[in-house]
Amino acid sequence: MGNDSNMKKNSQKDGDGSSNGSNNKKILFGILAFALILTFFMNFFMSSFSGGNMIEIEYNEFLSLVEKDAVKSVEIQSDRLIIYSDVSKLEKIEDYSGIRAKNEVVFYTGLVGDLELVNTLKEHNIRFSRKLTDSSPIFDFFMSWIMPILFLYLIFALIIHFAAKKLGGGGFMGVGKSNAKIYMQKETGVTFKDAAGLGEAKESLQEIIDFLHNPDKYVKIGAKQPKGALLVGPPGTGKTLLAKAVAGEANVTFMSLSGSDFVEMFVGVGASRVRDLFKQASENAPCIIFIDEIDAIGKKRDGSVNSNDEREQTLNQLLSEMDGFDSSKAIVILAATNRPDVLDKALLRPGRFDRRIIVEKPDLIGREDILKVHSKDVILDEKVDLRAVALATSGAAGADLANMVNEAALRAVRMGREKVLQEDLMEAVEVIIAGKEKKDRILSPKEKRIVAFHEVGHALVSAMQKNAQPVQKITIVPRTMGALGYTMQMPEEEKYLMTKDEIVSEISVLLGGRAAEEIVFDTVTTGASNDIERATKMARSMVSQYGMSDKFDMMALETTENKYLDGRNVAICGENTIAALDEEVLRIIKECHEKALSILRENRETLDKIAEYLYEKETITGERFMSILKEVKGDDVFAAEKNQRK
Ligand code: ATP
Repeated sequence: MGNDSNMKKNSQKDGDGSSNGSNNKKILFGILAFALILTFFMNFFMSSFSGGNMIEIEYNEFLSLVEKDAVKSVEIQSDRLIIYSDVSKLEKIEDYSGIRAKNEVVFYTGLVGDLELVNTLKEHNIRFSRKLTDSSPIFDFFMSWIMPILFLYLIFALIIHFAAKKLGGGGFMGVGKSNAKIYMQKETGVTFKDAAGLGEAKESLQEIIDFLHNPDKYVKIGAKQPKGALLVGPPGTGKTLLAKAVAGEANVTFMSLSGSDFVEMFVGVGASRVRDLFKQASENAPCIIFIDEIDAIGKKRDGSVNSNDEREQTLNQLLSEMDGFDSSKAIVILAATNRPDVLDKALLRPGRFDRRIIVEKPDLIGREDILKVHSKDVILDEKVDLRAVALATSGAAGADLANMVNEAALRAVRMGREKVLQEDLMEAVEVIIAGKEKKDRILSPKEKRIVAFHEVGHALVSAMQKNAQPVQKITIVPRTMGALGYTMQMPEEEKYLMTKDEIVSEISVLLGGRAAEEIVFDTVTTGASNDIERATKMARSMVSQYGMSDKFDMMALETTENKYLDGRNVAICGENTIAALDEEVLRIIKECHEKALSILRENRETLDKIAEYLYEKETITGERFMSILKEVKGDDVFAAEKNQRK
């Protein structure tokens, strides 16, 4: 079996070698043809330029011109006579439509071996001469054809060679050579401890580590290890980190290359890089090959006119190398992608990337663990509550959390502290979500009041509903990412499901800002655009994906594409249904808008009080907000009202 696969590998290599060779031949032939054509045109223009003034005549005619004393001088060349005539003595000058120069028309005629020529010229007192530099026809041919072709060929070949080299290939003479920068680490120094959370992913990779540790155990029993595993998940969730950790745990070499590094302008370069990569890997076995962004080369081959030859050839090479390498060699290929849906089926079949390991965004415990890993080397205040930070960062990926800890540490340094406090971490959360505070943006008092009422509108609609999340903080300090104010809500616990009531409450909270503007100022501003967008998205998903509207019952109207990136929704129903879907979304939005308006109208006094307070202080905590709310309404009334509203 091992032999079989070796044979397969060799034959594939030969095949590819010849394909590269034929590529080179094609390029060389192309340059040669181009040089030939160019030389032809050059000669054509040169001859029409230099011979353009001369008119060919027959030898007889030349003799009759001599007889008529119409010739001034003659130049004898190796194969012809150049005849300089005297225009005044030429009859029917219009027959010689040649170009006149210095009162003469120049003729030429071939040599006919006339032994009397010299005597005839002497008799008529015609000056004649023979050029000393006159060359032989062979020399002429060499100079006007062979030399230019060689010269042009050399110039073009060099230009293409250097261009190819600069663009990342090995130069066209050595397309087979690769300049790919393979990132290689003998010891990654990363282990599973550094990749927090990701329990299931680690479990799936455990077997691969065991195989790399002890391949013989598997070979002995006849078990074949999977050659490759595909790490799939949103950006920043730790796929690269996990691949490095596998190499670290198994104590093997880690080689990595990004999918986009393979794709080049010249057909064949990517394929040669794949070959190089596998060659280096077998020299460094046991090892892990990690290909990041494999979708750059692994996209479905559709055979359409627009398909990319280079990418397809690279993919084919990768597929055949994966088939070809000896599975007992302890080489494991890990690849990462955010877009598994676009990958070619051939890449996913058994024997290739047949294991798919999902690397999801972390849950509450995962986030807390990641925060712990990244704050290991950061001096934290004893009162820091990482669980609270984790709660506030639902939906954040590992990379965001690592960034937050660093932002918090930077803020602590800026504040002149030696420890990172909880407030540094919470501020870092806000920086990641809404951008930095923009204190230099001064709002006019009128705008500031509108923003204050808008934000309290959100907070109050949230506080007065049973299903809404508690308010953590309200601020009207503008942020760099565009927000003029900001109401931060924090869930009491991690949630994996949302009920219909919760979504409706959430939409009402989002529309609460605009509702407050309408009630208090009797006008509307542009400040609600983001709220409106988010509310509409939620309402649409309720109808089109979650089966939460009576009108469409449990019918799916949209599906999510590109789940791990932008998560775009695409309609899967007819046009009429889409129109009906829009109507249903509008109905939900209107209902929620009405709800927000009625809550705020009923609590107008509280709204005014808290908004005025916020206007003055600019930032208030959730606790302060609640205490004013309870003060104005009275504890019991507040509790009763909140509980009766879903
Ligand atoms: P992309 O898809 O954009 O390539 P990725 O999934 O490969 O992203 P990584 O490059 O592995 O993400 O992660 C970026 C950084 O985020 C890591 O260097 C690490 O600091 C941090 N990180 C991500 N996930 C984790 C985790 N589970 N534990 C600890 N740190 C993490």
